[in-house]
Amino acid sequence: MTKGVFLMKIYAFEVREDEKDCFHLMSAKYHIEIECSSACLTSEKIPLLEKCTAVSILGQSNIGETEAALLETQNINYLSTRSIGYNHIDLKAAKDHHIHVCNSSYAPNGVADYTIMMILLCLRKYKQALWRTQCNDFSLDGLQGRELKDLTVGILGTGKIGTMVAKELSGFGCRLLAYDIHKNPTLADQVTYMPLDEIYHQADIITLHMPLFESTYHMINDDSIAKMKKGVVIINCARGGLSDVHALTRGIESEQIGALGIDVLENEEDIIHKNLKTDIFANRDMAYLRQFKNVVHTQHMAFYTDSAVKSMVEHGITGILDMIQNKETSLQLC
Ligand code: NAD
Repeated sequence: MTKGVFLMKIYAFEVREDEKDCFHLMSAKYHIEIECSSACLTSEKIPLLEKCTAVSILGQSNIGETEAALLETQNINYLSTRSIGYNHIDLKAAKDHHIHVCNSSYAPNGVADYTIMMILLCLRKYKQALWRTQCNDFSLDGLQGRELKDLTVGILGTGKIGTMVAKELSGFGCRLLAYDIHKNPTLADQVTYMPLDEIYHQADIITLHMPLFESTYHMINDDSIAKMKKGVVIINCARGGLSDVHALTRGIESEQIGALGIDVLENEEDIIHKNLKTDIFANRDMAYLRQFKNVVHTQHMAFYTDSAVKSMVEHGITGILDMIQNKETSLQLC
């Protein structure tokens, strides 16, 4: 990027246009050569990278055993993901192949704000209202909404984002329930922690803010949906794999689920952040589910604000530099 003498080189993959200015600034600030590519990092590409460099990726480059072994062969020992989620990286394989990995961090406000917006869009039936006004239909029938002050919200996962969601929601006057394997003491005045089944039983709205692990994969399934209140609103601005898409579909069809606000859906890998306007859309589950009037589906964009993108790129670079210098960093995963 910037011309001059560089101390090292970093390859950045999955780089969007809106990240480039920030990469340019980081290159100049730290005297690093940064080579940007919009493509994903794949096993075919790794042998072509210069040795002794570092790589930065986003969430669509899968780093498994094969990729980790190839990175080791290239003497590439540092990897950053500019995302918060890191379920696309096999940390055990990375560790086995002596690759240090860090993720990124940005203020939780953007995703929390987006979650509140999703809740309100669902409660006020805004998708249907928008469709109608687009064709000059200003009728009210079927559009009556509900108010947050009368409702109970279950927040599953009270890490950085779940905590911010709880803080923002506390201004709306709703009752807040929460579940997490680690309770957050700073929320003691705002939420009541309860076992999951109790939350399913009591909550009008359930919002997911956990990472995707084996333990959380498909936690929203036929069984858990059956335990929820009839007409429950489910919001997922975390990871698609937390919910079984077929169970969500059955829940919407049976009206057990009253509305869905989903920024993420499992098997979104082939479509994520792509313009497929003129293509045949092959993701049948997604195409079917999103056509319902009470399903709001967005393009995995809860994170996407000016402030978050700047932090993601900055941490993507400083995380690598900190790991190289053996600095303690809370972002280091292995
Ligand atoms: P975090 O690590 O701060 O919080 C996660 C919380 O989940 C922690 O409190 C943890 O204890 C809890 N948890 C983990 N496993 C659990 C389990 N089995 N049962 C109960 N609780 C469990 O993460 P965060 O920054 O709040 O982000 C949450 C998730 O949101 C991320 O992992 C990421 O997948 C997703 N995310 C999505 C977007 C988007 O654009 N849609 C943006 C950022 C983050």
